[in-house]
Amino acid sequence: ASKAEGQNRLHRFEPALLLMRRLRSQLVEDLRAAIKSDGLTLYYQPVVELATGRVEGVEALVRWNHPTRGFIMPDEFIPLAEEAGLISELGLWVLRAAVHQLRSWIAASLVDNRFSVRINISATDLQSLQFIEDVRNVLKETGVRPEQVVLELTEVAIVKGNELDRYSLAGLRGLGVGIEIDDFGTGYSSISYLRRLPVDRVKVDRSLITGLGTDPSQPALVAAVLQLVRACGLEAVWEGVETAEQAGILRGLGCLSAQGYYFSRPVPPDQIPLLLADQPEGANP
Ligand code: C2E
Ligand code: MG
Ligand code: MG
Ligand code: MG
Repeated sequence: ASKAEGQNRLHRFEPALLLMRRLRSQLVEDLRAAIKSDGLTLYYQPVVELATGRVEGVEALVRWNHPTRGFIMPDEFIPLAEEAGLISELGLWVLRAAVHQLRSWIAASLVDNRFSVRINISATDLQSLQFIEDVRNVLKETGVRPEQVVLELTEVAIVKGNELDRYSLAGLRGLGVGIEIDDFGTGYSSISYLRRLPVDRVKVDRSLITGLGTDPSQPALVAAVLQLVRACGLEAVWEGVETAEQAGILRGLGCLSAQGYYFSRPVPPDQIPLLLADQPEGANP
């Protein structure tokens, strides 16, 4: 190819690159605006006690209602927020929105003091001492009991963490909030780590139960993971339960809590009262 041709090619592609860059920076600006002006919204997915069907809590899952693109899911914009340095602002927005929502459910007597809201925390949040202050402040301003707030951290965030992270974990624990390792089984947390971390529960990643109900060797694996988690003095929550059969097998193996489309998809907060009213007899507060 001649030099002229190469230059030609360059000219053809340059506008596309520029366009992509412009779209991305526009998206970042949109996200910045969304965080400031309630363009984000939280959906809530129940966590269910397997033995009784009681909704023991909900996980807050953020969505971005973009003015022209419609709903954008967190897997798409959380990484963008990380790159653009907006993750702390986003994390604070989620924290405040979720705990205030919990307070209003408590005030309406929709839930009792065993009910918890789970909030996903980024590695960046964990590395910031300001975040501990934010948690302390939102608990103070809402009067919500700290045990009713559970922070979900991925094992990657925890295990990759440095000394400061461990201080933050201890600091958060000191506030009395619950701490849970999310997506357990996908990262590389060593078992010795699990014993030493100041956490209460692990949420087992849904990849560990996808074969449940079809793969005959899967229940033994689930039983082994459950045993391992309990040997470390922790309890497990099972994520991604999609069928009655899966729920039944987990219950049969002695698993306590689960979450997944079989029980409910994540729903907007106005559907939570209905969902709570739908619980089996005796499971209501
Ligand atoms: P995660 O914390 O592991 O959340 C579980 C994800 O699995 C959610 O996706 C949920 O909708 C989905 N899910 C629940 N039940 C089922 C099921 O039965 N089958 C299948 N296939 N999927 C199920 P979502 O809402 O798209 O969130 C994706 C991830 O984005 C979350 O994974 C979490 O890591 C992150 N995320 C969500 N909200 C926040 C947030 O407020 N802050 C931060 N930092 N991250 C968030
Ligand atoms: Mg989670
Ligand atoms: Mg998870
Ligand atoms: Mg996940």
